[in-house]
Amino acid sequence: MDNRVAVIGTGYVGLTTGACFAHLGHEVICADIDASKIERLSRGEIPIHEPGLAEIVEEGLQAGRLSFTTDAVAAVSDAGFVYLCVPTPQGADGSADLTYLEAAALQIAPHLQPETIVVNKSTVPVGSASFVEQVLGRSDVHVVSNPEFLREGSAVHDFLNPDRVVIGSADQGAAIRIAGLYLGLPAPLMVTDPASAETIKYAANAFLAMKLSFVNAVANLCEVLDADVNDVVLGMGYDKRIGHDFLRPGPGWGGSCFPKDSRALQYMAREAGYDFTILDTLLDSNDAQFDRVAAKVTRMVGGSVDGLRIAAWGLTFKANTDDRRDSPAIEVLRRLSAAGAEITAFDPTVTGPMAEMPEVAIAEDACGACEDADVLVVLTEWDDFKWVDLEKVAAVMRHARVVDARNLLDRGQVRRRGFEYDGIGRH
Ligand code: NAD
Repeated sequence: MDNRVAVIGTGYVGLTTGACFAHLGHEVICADIDASKIERLSRGEIPIHEPGLAEIVEEGLQAGRLSFTTDAVAAVSDAGFVYLCVPTPQGADGSADLTYLEAAALQIAPHLQPETIVVNKSTVPVGSASFVEQVLGRSDVHVVSNPEFLREGSAVHDFLNPDRVVIGSADQGAAIRIAGLYLGLPAPLMVTDPASAETIKYAANAFLAMKLSFVNAVANLCEVLDADVNDVVLGMGYDKRIGHDFLRPGPGWGGSCFPKDSRALQYMAREAGYDFTILDTLLDSNDAQFDRVAAKVTRMVGGSVDGLRIAAWGLTFKANTDDRRDSPAIEVLRRLSAAGAEITAFDPTVTGPMAEMPEVAIAEDACGACEDADVLVVLTEWDDFKWVDLEKVAAVMRHARVVDARNLLDRGQVRRRGFEYDGIGRH
């Protein structure tokens, strides 16, 4: 039983967790309520864009160590570990919505073997280990917090090469058993109490979001001081206390984690009576960054985008993922669409109309998106965009103008091709 892992929820985190545990030699069964997803996964088809995931899922299936089911009850009935990887979306008041977690715990509770360890892998508010314990109502099983820090776009790499593994457990024996699952990974492993483990996850995400917001603020200042933010962050990053990671200015941060987790932390702080003002400023300044990028586009076309055609490169919240949840690209485009712009976009992972913005036309390639456009806005840092033939792009646009919200393009090249150019924190 002690190398059998059941994973409940096979999204970005659950699927990566399951496939990577199978890669590490454990026997894994992944359950999801989405029957079509399970059907595809059982055939070795990966429903998300995540480098390296297809290969290790295939490896697990071939070795017979990885399987998929819609039957969570059967999955947990002989498991030593049950990883809960279900969504914890933002509730109406900003708090984390634990409906999925509660439903999953209620469903599995009567079917767990004694001494099973139920693990909160989902990002859950402080106190959730106790909450799951209560929902399970089983004094013979353990509940442990083991937050996940992987990044979409490098999820498999991050899971197998973590900066650290955090285990929050009130029971030392349970912590040691969880540690055994990660044996062989080159990472520091820390054991703490559940509340601290839960706090680590939120504090780490908020800190990273703060780093991005800080750099965006520095970039905005560079624009008025006539400094170049790319050089400024290079110089800052050489300081080991600061580091180069997460120092790239952009259109604001987003994705499935930072916005909801920052709001959940803000909610927790408020409920606990702590005035976490840095966090409030962080969230406000990120919204202002979306406005700022939309304003740059508007300024470049002369003050109004009403009736103008805008080409957009990139829709996902960052490169190398197909995830558009809380994407800054969508946030900026929403503002431009509301001001009357007609938008055609290209993203390597988007082939048809988007449910969240059906009014955006989707082009088949980057150049196609630019046909008759009055301005191009670069919103996601897909590497491919660097290599697009700018001469061809300029030839098909009505006006060769670009707002590069990722500082991705070589602005010298862009200008030499006759474009008017504006970046973030550099002119
Ligand atoms: P996701 O939406 O991609 O996947 C969640 C899956 O759970 C879906 O396939 C859904 O069908 C399934 N599900 C929902 N209820 C279920 C149930 N009762 N039984 C079985 N399956 C069920 O979500 P995700 O991005 O993988 O995130 C999961 C959790 O991990 C969240 O708490 C998130 O905050 C956290 N997290 C996410 C990331 C990330 O980069 N995506 C990183 C670290 C932590």
